Amino acid sequence: MLSDRAKKIKPSPTLSMDTKAKAMKAAGIDIVGFGVGEPDFDTPDNIKEAAIKAIKDGFTKYTPVGGIDPLKDAIIDKFKGDNNLDYARDEIIVSCGAKHSLYNIAQALFNPGDEVLIPSPYWVSYPDQAILNDAIPVFVKTLESDSFMLKPEVIKSHITKKTKALILNSPSNPTGLTYDKKTLEKIAEVVLKHNIYVISDEIYEKITYDGVTHVSIASFDKEIKSKTIVVNGVSKSYAMTGWRIGYAAGPKEIIKAMTNIQSQSTSNPTSIAQKAAVEALTGPQDFIALMITEFDKRRRFLINELNSIPGMSCITPTGAFYAFPNTSRLYGKSVGNRKISSSADLALYLLEEAKVALVHGEAFGDDNYIRLSYATSLDEIKKGVDRIREAVDRLSLKTSNV
Ligand SMILES: *Cc1c(COP(=O)(O)O)cnc(C)c1O
Repeated sequence: MLSDRAKKIKPSPTLSMDTKAKAMKAAGIDIVGFGVGEPDFDTPDNIKEAAIKAIKDGFTKYTPVGGIDPLKDAIIDKFKGDNNLDYARDEIIVSCGAKHSLYNIAQALFNPGDEVLIPSPYWVSYPDQAILNDAIPVFVKTLESDSFMLKPEVIKSHITKKTKALILNSPSNPTGLTYDKKTLEKIAEVVLKHNIYVISDEIYEKITYDGVTHVSIASFDKEIKSKTIVVNGVSKSYAMTGWRIGYAAGPKEIIKAMTNIQSQSTSNPTSIAQKAAVEALTGPQDFIALMITEFDKRRRFLINELNSIPGMSCITPTGAFYAFPNTSRLYGKSVGNRKISSSADLALYLLEEAKVALVHGEAFGDDNYIRLSYATSLDEIKKGVDRIREAVDRLSLKTSNV
């Protein structure tokens, strides 16, 4: 009955854990949630007001498929101001979230059998979006000892005649790494030499720490810009995940193809949300600094705590809002009849016994880690790490099997 395509897609590996955590919560169990991938802050009032005004003004009809001009212009100004990148309106598309922009790119760019380089650990949707478009994900392993940064020389050994694109994500979900300019310049060299595309997911651009400023690989020169599609959106920077506004910028033939594809699938992103996004990009920006200050407090606290738990170690992320501790030293330990052999075992143990929800690293392509989002209050984080510590301490005791 189902298409081969539908059969190729695995259900989200995070889903069963999430379902279980939600069921426990619904049953009245006090779960500390480190699982969520969205800011816990409310969308700023000025943005909400812009949406309300749009409704009252009757701005509730179809818009141009690829977004209204005022939003495209706000995006153009953003690229100029933040990244020193010049784009024209026909080089911009607004989609129903950055995830949708990424999907449109996959549709517009990949042929059956094309290979897509995906540094691992990776964001969960990259491989499946490639597979859904008959392309082949090729994972390029990155190491904790390199801060999970892709080494330019490692890319070369994965490139074949079929390689079509490289997906970059800085700041990264799940590792929190941010690429430095030098590394990106070297990556750009490899990309140009082998004539492949870069899909640069910069959705966490604004969320960086320790004085790190985001660098877009597209910004180096005209050449690399012509091979890069930059993806961004308002979800993470303005706490607007539910509004579904993302965008992409790149060569106009690609953007045109994406727009055609979008015209036959979703049509325009929600008219009201587009007006809200204009306000987000052009209105006061102080919300972001306040959010980052808060994230930064939590980050410092959480990373410190995780590193003080025997058997865990965590590099300090410089972007996004995730901690990605190495938990491999806990594997092989047990408590009672329960043996922990993988990140999934550990995540399930922590959910059931410590009442803490987080995501196992295997979901992001590396079983040696777990991911904790710190998009939750400092009080909750304190409570959660205490519970984790206690549960891990019990493991360390290696209680003999009964
Ligand atoms: C959240 C997220 C997205 C998707 O964002 P939307 O605009 O809400 O679709 C894309 N990439 C990464 C790495 C993310 O974490």
